[in-house]
Amino acid sequence: MELSGALWKLTEGSDISISLIAGAGLLEGHPKRVRSLAKASLEDRGIRIVEGTRARSVVQNTVSLENGTVIPADLAFIASGVKPNPLFVNSPVPTGEDGGLLVNHHLQSPEYPEIFGGGDCITLGGEKLARVGVYAVRQNPVLYHNLLAALENSPLNRFDPGNPSFLLILNMGDGTGILKKGHLVAAGRLAFRIKDTIDRKFMRKFQVSGELEEMEQ
Ligand SMILES: Cc1cc2nc3c(=O)[nH]c(=O)nc-3n(C[C@H](O)[C@H](O)[C@H](O)COP(=O)(O)OP(=O)(O)OC[C@H]3O[C@@H](n4cnc5c(N)ncnc54)[C@H](O)[C@@H]3O)c2cc1C
Repeated sequence: MELSGALWKLTEGSDISISLIAGAGLLEGHPKRVRSLAKASLEDRGIRIVEGTRARSVVQNTVSLENGTVIPADLAFIASGVKPNPLFVNSPVPTGEDGGLLVNHHLQSPEYPEIFGGGDCITLGGEKLARVGVYAVRQNPVLYHNLLAALENSPLNRFDPGNPSFLLILNMGDGTGILKKGHLVAAGRLAFRIKDTIDRKFMRKFQVSGELEEMEQ
């Protein structure tokens, strides 16, 4: 959804057509209001949204859908969601149902205590965590502490996922965003500004070789 919005921005003013193949439904699992706002934003810009079917194959310049529709395409972008690396299911380490490295609340493999993990590649035992950067960032200090503690044989810290109602802001690609926090849903330029400010502040912490100056330009 974000890619199609960004693609629209990149090609603004040209006569290209963009089709978004949305699977069962655009932004499935998100609240109805978020979905209808996103749909309206894309459709108002002429982006065609195909729901109720998935892409089956992309061969040469043709995208074939499961419902038999064939869409000619000069370019196909595939953004079909996050799946942990098959490294884990192909190895003896225990994994969760979705193939993520199974870890306990110390972010540690229960069977191989010398292995720790965090972010998109893990399945936290007993929790159904969304694969979003919010959790990767929250796990970071715990992981860092526990790696050092394991080397020194000192006590490990527990990871607490915290409030599951984290701030979600979708970048619609046209300078607007859709913000969701708890039951609050809001769309517009301010939502995008908030996202942009948070993201830039975060990225600024990791600039080590002059990128900061580039970002400021
Ligand atoms: C388009 C997009 C938008 C997103 N927007 C948001 C957002 O607004 N908010 C949010 O919270 N989250 C967002 N996410 C999700 C967020 O980016 C991820 O949850 C987060 O980056 C996970 O961090 P990570 O360190 O686990 O994995 P990654 O950031 O994916 O880092 C994994 C690293 O491991 C490297 N790697 C992979 N395999 C190997 C290997 N075999 N050997 C060595 N290195 C390897 C990869 O190259 C990569 O650098 C977004 C994701 C995408 C794709």
